Amino acid sequence: MHTDSRFLENNSLVQGDICIVGAGAAGISIALDWKDSPYKVILLEGGGFEYDDQVQDLMSGTTSGQRYFPLRSTRLHYFGGATGHWAGMCSPFDPIDFMERSWVPHSGWPISREDLDPYYAKAHQPLQLGPYNYAFDFWKKELPNLNPLPFDDKVVWNKMWQFSTARFGPLYKEELVKAKNIELLTYANATSIRLREGSAEVDHIQVKNHAGKTHRVKAKHYILACGTLQNTRLLLASNTQHTQGLGNEHDKVGRFFMEHLEVPVADLWMAAPFPTDLYSWQYGKTKAAAELAISGAAQEKEGILNGTLSLRPLVFGKHTKARMDTWQNEDPRKSIDNMFRSWDEAQLAGKEEKGAIERAFELNIRIEQSPNPESRLSLIREKDELGVPKTNLHWALTGLDKRSVRRIAELVGQQAGLSGIGRVQLREFLRDKNDSTFPDTTNGGWHHMGTTRMSTDPKKGVVDANCQVHGIPNLHIAGAACYPTSGAPNPTLTLTALSLRLSDRVKTLLKRPV
Ligand SMILES: Cc1cc2nc3c(=O)[nH]c(=O)nc-3n(C[C@H](O)[C@H](O)[C@H](O)COP(=O)(O)OP(=O)(O)OC[C@H]3O[C@@H](n4cnc5c(N)ncnc54)[C@H](O)[C@@H]3O)c2cc1C
Repeated sequence: MHTDSRFLENNSLVQGDICIVGAGAAGISIALDWKDSPYKVILLEGGGFEYDDQVQDLMSGTTSGQRYFPLRSTRLHYFGGATGHWAGMCSPFDPIDFMERSWVPHSGWPISREDLDPYYAKAHQPLQLGPYNYAFDFWKKELPNLNPLPFDDKVVWNKMWQFSTARFGPLYKEELVKAKNIELLTYANATSIRLREGSAEVDHIQVKNHAGKTHRVKAKHYILACGTLQNTRLLLASNTQHTQGLGNEHDKVGRFFMEHLEVPVADLWMAAPFPTDLYSWQYGKTKAAAELAISGAAQEKEGILNGTLSLRPLVFGKHTKARMDTWQNEDPRKSIDNMFRSWDEAQLAGKEEKGAIERAFELNIRIEQSPNPESRLSLIREKDELGVPKTNLHWALTGLDKRSVRRIAELVGQQAGLSGIGRVQLREFLRDKNDSTFPDTTNGGWHHMGTTRMSTDPKKGVVDANCQVHGIPNLHIAGAACYPTSGAPNPTLTLTALSLRLSDRVKTLLKRPV
């Protein structure tokens, strides 16, 4: 069932068994998991089914530190969330990503890759991916011409990816609207979470919209699935009963913001043409492809972060503007148009180039960001139209990030030399080993992670191993905000898996006698 909350009588009370706040990949995957169950599910979405400028404005905020995209255009504020413009690249985190690594400060998840494996497999359904199999040998049998570069896989291996074209809004709207046990409320912006007086439990969530209506939603369990930045903002802004916000007794909410650094780091000049389809993909066409990944053993030996490298023809890469330059419009539609226009221009310019450059590739890195408490989201004085304080995102990188980027490019360079396939030339910004800064053109991947990190110790994290906010038994967080470390792969497959694991957990909690 669907209700537009702008047309509900002011001060309405909506009640259910669970309340999911936010209908993006995380929230919709959980809601689908509860479809046809005996429980009543309330799914709150701040936007409607289509883009709306006034609603999008609620995402606005400021940035500081390492140059970042405008916050207003990094997340879509309507049903389906950021899947409305994501690229769909999916690959699971490696086992090492979950481990405590002595050379990576603040690393270590309280759960392992094995804990998440069944949920990775399940997450393939809403994301409409192929089999849960990321072994190179499996795909080599399935697809033609996956010819790997002849590198030593003890150092550099081929990490496989699959590609989703799932846009959750159009894909799941009808199914959710028709579901008898689900009430989807659109234009229902959660603006504050209220605890029951004298109790640590959530009593209700306050919901507002631009029609001037305020409503209350009551449930037994609450799952925040508003995306990393909005989940965190909601906890911080719920500060009428606890001045520091909810779950923030130890000043951890908002800290450890992480992105993936996605930057061209080097050029690979091949000695001879190397025909392969392994390292390239086309939206909507490619089933699986690989990136060059650094082995766990090499990460440990070198004391570096996890990272992967993708290859794109240098004739194209050389003319491509940094996404951090093209994606600077506050309007998400203009930002994406600018980016596509710059790619078209690069394609045209590349067509003019002939000769040896046709055998050259640009190596683009994607690397986990080292967890840093100073990289953080915090509230600012200015409020949005619904009266909720806006946020400032301070993106702060460390020397370990820069050293890892450089070393990964060097390791691939060594492999290229040793195997005799070619030579790697590092980009200018990596040449001075004493320089730990990143240029303004450094891209993020629009991947918002951390800020309500997972830890069994309430002093070190905001949620426990089950994604429950420490100290608030009926409040849970779904999404990449819970990541203690960010892995190298794009986040959505992992956050969907984690959300489905949380979904199971809440089912168990609801079955417990009160
Ligand atoms: C251009 C781009 C390309 C990307 N490419 C990839 C990729 O290739 N692979 C990958 O893995 N990831 C990619 N991502 C990231 C990916 O889109 C996100 O990780 C993922 O969609 C996040 O899902 P989510 O459900 O956690 O959050 P969101 O998608 O942000 O969904 C949150 C939902 O909550 C709603 N909401 C927010 N605040 C409130 C509130 N207060 N009350 C009620 N509702 C609220 C929002 O409207 C939204 O519908 C990309 C992102 C962008 C922007």
